[in-house]
Amino acid sequence: MKLAILTSGGDSAGMNAVVRAVVKAGILKGCETWVVREGYEGLVRGNTEAAPKSEPSKTSQNLPANYRNTNINLIQNLRFGDGDLLKDGTGDFIGGRTIKGRYIVRVGFDDVRGWFAEGGTLIGTARSKTFRTREGRLAAAYNLVKEGIDALVVCGGDGSLTGADVFRAEWPELITALHAEGRISKEQAEAHSHLKIVGLVGSIDNDMSMTDLTIGAPTALHRICEAIDNINSTAASHSRAFVLEVMGRHCGWLALLAGVSGGADFIFIPERPPPHDTWEDEMCACIHRHREIGKRKTLVIIAEGAIDSNLNPIHADYVKDVLTDRLGLDTRVTTLGHTQRGGRPVAYDRVLPTLQGVEAVEALLESTPDTPSYMIGVQENKIIRVPLMEAVAMTRAVATAIEAKDFDKAMSLRDPEFKESFDGFITTSTLEQKDIPVEKKMRVAIMHMGAPAGGMNAATRTATRWCIRNGHTPLAIHNGFRGLLDDYIHELSWLGVDSWMSRGGSELGTNRALPSIDLGAIASKFQHHNFDALLMIGGFEAFSALLILEEGRKHYPAFHVPMVHLPATISNNVPMTEHSLGSDTSLNALVDACDAIKQSASASRNRVFVVETQGGKCGYIASMGALATGASLVYTPETGMDLDTLRRDVRYLKTRYTLDERGKSEGRLVIRNEQASQVYTTEVITKMLKEEGGSLFDSRSASLGHTLQGGVPSPMDRARAARLTLKCMTFIERHHELLQQQPRKSRHASPDSAAVITIQSSSVQWVPVQEMVQHADMINRRGKTRWWDGIKDLAEALAGRPELIGIH
Ligand code: ATP
Repeated sequence: MKLAILTSGGDSAGMNAVVRAVVKAGILKGCETWVVREGYEGLVRGNTEAAPKSEPSKTSQNLPANYRNTNINLIQNLRFGDGDLLKDGTGDFIGGRTIKGRYIVRVGFDDVRGWFAEGGTLIGTARSKTFRTREGRLAAAYNLVKEGIDALVVCGGDGSLTGADVFRAEWPELITALHAEGRISKEQAEAHSHLKIVGLVGSIDNDMSMTDLTIGAPTALHRICEAIDNINSTAASHSRAFVLEVMGRHCGWLALLAGVSGGADFIFIPERPPPHDTWEDEMCACIHRHREIGKRKTLVIIAEGAIDSNLNPIHADYVKDVLTDRLGLDTRVTTLGHTQRGGRPVAYDRVLPTLQGVEAVEALLESTPDTPSYMIGVQENKIIRVPLMEAVAMTRAVATAIEAKDFDKAMSLRDPEFKESFDGFITTSTLEQKDIPVEKKMRVAIMHMGAPAGGMNAATRTATRWCIRNGHTPLAIHNGFRGLLDDYIHELSWLGVDSWMSRGGSELGTNRALPSIDLGAIASKFQHHNFDALLMIGGFEAFSALLILEEGRKHYPAFHVPMVHLPATISNNVPMTEHSLGSDTSLNALVDACDAIKQSASASRNRVFVVETQGGKCGYIASMGALATGASLVYTPETGMDLDTLRRDVRYLKTRYTLDERGKSEGRLVIRNEQASQVYTTEVITKMLKEEGGSLFDSRSASLGHTLQGGVPSPMDRARAARLTLKCMTFIERHHELLQQQPRKSRHASPDSAAVITIQSSSVQWVPVQEMVQHADMINRRGKTRWWDGIKDLAEALAGRPELIGIH
């Protein structure tokens, strides 16, 4: 298959990762790969100049004599002179040669190396009026046939994907016309009777239905939250109000998630305008209440497309005037504009586009004239294929529902996460207290366990505010079970947790002591403090603690209360859940560090950096880190290390450096989990590579250590913390109500009331702790199975992987 990829519409971070993944996966699967510069416009313009002569055979000559079972397609497709055209963004001259005449460019495996770290799209994007016409599409079809391309990956927004579908539907007719006009031969017409198309959604707004996330949205959210964190400190210093306008013409995702993650007081989104004409009164009343209890800063977030319930636009300046005139607040407006679009992609916008790009190639390879064009999306943690036009139609239906003032429908057409996030925002931003009967009131204990992880404080803030709103009492247990034994407990307040969304570390304090240090005493503390429920936020320790408490129910009635574990650990080693809070923050820290290291390694040319990561006996961070940074090799505890592997890997690196263009070698990364081997330590590996690299490469090491734990939690961790915590609280309330139906003295909690909240594939699931044990490797403190087992292989394959270039 000859496949081409183009990026179209507005640019977004992560588009380069898509191009990289599609090109590399395509070549590994035996395809010939092309990129189209400047979106559909490039397709219409095509190539008017001949391609520079590529010299694949020269590359093959560089291979060592002993290679065997090589992926010949990879070797033959390492680099092309055509690929050089991409290195000059101006489209003018490169090496004295005009490149305006080549828009459809053949690229090889190494032409897209290192594209991860770049924002925007390196192959250019455009909005093409000509492609909207049949004439334009006829030219596009001709240009594809001329190059022999029969499959197209389009990465763009709903407009671009609509264009893709129109093109595919029209294709047979375009081919007939081209043949009739004598522009293509009968053989060409027969060989190109069907165009395979797959779409990927590149859009910072996250405005596409049927997928949880679009490519670029996590990075845009990151940029917004960085701005909010900066604004918050100045706002608090001057006791100011800020009105922040963020992108999103028809979709409020960025404003909503920024509101949740940034702890805003009020938000305006197109899908859910304020219900009453008197929204100014309601907003002022809400903000006034917050100010009354002592809040020093106010943050209102407005989506670009915010409207009132009569569809009149709500402008930031107007909101500012309202806050100034009615509440007397010193109010400033900040419009973030294009800063949201740009910048280095966060880890999420490297991993997701990579997995989706690989899936896109699979979908093309499986495509037949009878299958629909697919759009590749994601649901929780599962990469999915959905019929492209169904997704586009559903997306358009949101805009139609808004125009018809059917806002309930508009909300229902967004993914469930959107609605949950909205409910979460209302719960955590409104200062209200339900009046509930005394017997329904709960005293909810909240505890952090194990090492700190990004999102622990955000989860605690959410739990606190949920409790207060629903008439319950949130109680912080400081310093884990040791703190409980010392009665180090205090009631959390609405204002006290206000700034916790963005705080890293653990505000409650944490340690690794399990309740087994003195189970009887712990039970008596439960009784003494009258706990009706326990929320534990932490890693493997929290799971082990929950198990001990549940088993303790046999002897101690005090444990017959709902108890939940919300996984939070950078190692992501809690069994059965595919994500833990903190792992995204940690991955971002790793990506930041590796980008800097790689830059240094590349500056000094032939240098291999051995980067050591945390993770205990779990290779999640190392594997995902390798996928997000394009590391050449990754060592994990699950796979282990031995001499044979090391010998193979040294030969592989030598071959890779031999295959590099002379004078153009770049740095390479090797990621090693701290416990991948007791013997082959980072130091040993680094020295070995230095010794063996000879004149080809040098090596250095870097240990990331605790930097992976700290820092500001990522918006994705904060938003996930809020969403999952609300589910935890609903779970607790439900089980509390069930228990209340039993006589107080003999209450018996069912085993499933002690459970762990998990993300499994496309859904959030509760797993009773007793069931979880069967899936846990208690000695190595990780799950028995792992969804990311294949990630190490994929990361290494996309770097060239030893076996693929014939090193065994
Ligand atoms: P963004 O979300 O950033 O706006 P988008 O993909 O929706 O991205 P559009 O400007 O709507 O951006 O579309 C990009 C390009 O896709 C257009 O310039 C046009 O070339 C092509 N396109 C859009 N709609 C159609 C259509 N109905 N038929 C043919 N081509 C189309």
